[in-house]
Formats: sequence, C-alpha cells, structure tokens
Amino acid sequence: MAINKIQFQEGYSLFELFKDYGTDEQCRQALFKWKFPDGFVCPECGSKTYCTLKNRNLYQCNHCHHQTSATCGTIFDSTKLPLNKWFMAIHLITQMKTAISALELRRQIKVSYKTAWKMKQKIMQVMKERVDSKPLSGIIQLDDVYWGGEHRGGSRGRGSENKKPFLAAVSTNEEGHPIAMNFNVVEGFRSEQIEQWATKHLKPGSIVYSDGLNCFPAVKNAGCKHIRYVTGGGPKSVDKVEFIWVNTMIGNIKNAMRGSYHSINSRHLPRYLAEFCYRFNRRFDLRQMMPRFMYIAVRTPPMTGKLLKMAELYG
Ligand SMILES: [Zn+2]
Repeated sequence: MAINKIQFQEGYSLFELFKDYGTDEQCRQALFKWKFPDGFVCPECGSKTYCTLKNRNLYQCNHCHHQTSATCGTIFDSTKLPLNKWFMAIHLITQMKTAISALELRRQIKVSYKTAWKMKQKIMQVMKERVDSKPLSGIIQLDDVYWGGEHRGGSRGRGSENKKPFLAAVSTNEEGHPIAMNFNVVEGFRSEQIEQWATKHLKPGSIVYSDGLNCFPAVKNAGCKHIRYVTGGGPKSVDKVEFIWVNTMIGNIKNAMRGSYHSINSRHLPRYLAEFCYRFNRRFDLRQMMPRFMYIAVRTPPMTGKLLKMAELYG
C-alpha cells in the first residue's frame, strides 16, 4: 500500500466503537466469539453444550458442570471494570497515531490512575507478545541505540546506569519500503547477545545491514547474511539508504515517547517500545485493529502484579 493510502485510510471511529461495543453486554458477547470462534468448547472436557448463568456472566458445561467466563484465563481475568472501559482503552491505545499515557487514559475512561496504568501495561504486554511472535524477514536495517542517552553518544558500549541499550530493526522490501519493525531491550551489545536476539527475532536467510560495530556479524550465527556498512568516523549519515528507515524510526519513537510520556521507568521500556512497533506493523489495516488485538488478548494468560513489576523483559 502506498504511504498516502495508509495515512488516508478510513480508520475505526469512536462512533463505531460505541455502536459495536458501547455496553458491557456487547463486549462480553464479542469476547465470547473471539474466545470460541467455532462455538463454545468446555476447557475441562471438550464438550460443546452449555448453559448460561446470566446474572454471574458464567457459562456452565452441560457435561461436567465446569463453569467458565469470557474473561477467565485472559488478560481481562478477574477485572472489576465494565468491559466497555477495556474496549475503549484498547481502541485508544491501538488506533490513535500518537501514544496515550496512563494519565490521559485515566481522564478518557474515568478510572483511577493506578487502574489506568495497569490496564495500559497489560495492553502493551499483549502487543509485545504479538510483535515478538513474528520474526522479521527480508532486508533488515539494524542499529544499536540507548534510551536515556543520546543515540551515538560518547560512551557507547559502556552504557551508564540510566542508559538502556536496545536494538532497533526495521525490515524492508526490495524496493526499500519499510514493512515491519521490532525494538528490543538487550543486556548489551556483545556478540552472544546479538546472536541470541537474532535467533529469536529474525528469520534465517534475512539480509542484515548494520554499521561496523563488532558484535553485529554475530547475526550470521542465526543463519542470516550480514552486510557491514561503514559510514566513516563521524556521526552516522542518516540519509544513507541502507539505514534511512531504521534511523527515521528511532527518531520517531524517541520523539513520540518524549512527547507522550512524562517519564518511562526503564524497567518497562520493552513494553513501550513494543507499543510503537505493534501499531507500525499493523498500520495497513486500522479497521482490523480491534478484532486482531482481541483474538490475541483472549489467548494471553492473565498477568499478575508480579509480572507487571518484573524488572526486565529482555528480548
Ligand atoms: Zn465440561
């Protein structure tokens, strides 16, 4: 799709959101359909007949009497919020071109700040798992970046405490148009970390362009072809065609994060990076954002407070 067609495509409006998912009941029915696309199947015994315990939003298997709900075992598990607040939050986070902070989310859907923050983290975790489940392929532009420090800062390779190293990768087609991207926090820029990252996030056979940093040839250990592109001693030329997209995306994401978020705890940086990658990778079809997100969300296990606080989500 041409760039202007992506930008001017018809999105999914707030009017449609209210019409389709305005009430808790509409949302519950929609979740049921995404969870059981071929009709109810008892998670315990596989039986397909059930009855609905309406006042408790539960479905009971006619065979073994196991009770389940549209939300149990999903990221919405044991939520006390009306589901239409979740749908609205997901709409705002996936559909808007700019990122929405927990503070803004709190105002838009009328919940406490703590609730908005947790919802946002859970929604971003779904995005992260989805982005990470699809390795990049084709021609890859790869670069090393620090969050919290300047890109290409003086202390590269010896990141100070508050600088978080991450890898930025953008896949392009043969015409040089960007297709998808993934930005992943790594422990550092050493060969074994690059190999580990490439094994997880790149398809074997991909062609990887990078600068001359010593660690990057390690992508070959993951079955990729490596092309080292030396830009000379000074600051990297951002207009080099081999790097133009990865440089553009790094700039866009850094600006957007600085513009949308007052501060980001670096422990949660992997999720914030994934949020941008998820939206970018799905920019071709905004109308499918909600169903595609929900299909994954009802298959993503609930997240405990422990996971939300987890120090790192490397890779
Ligand atoms: Zn059963």
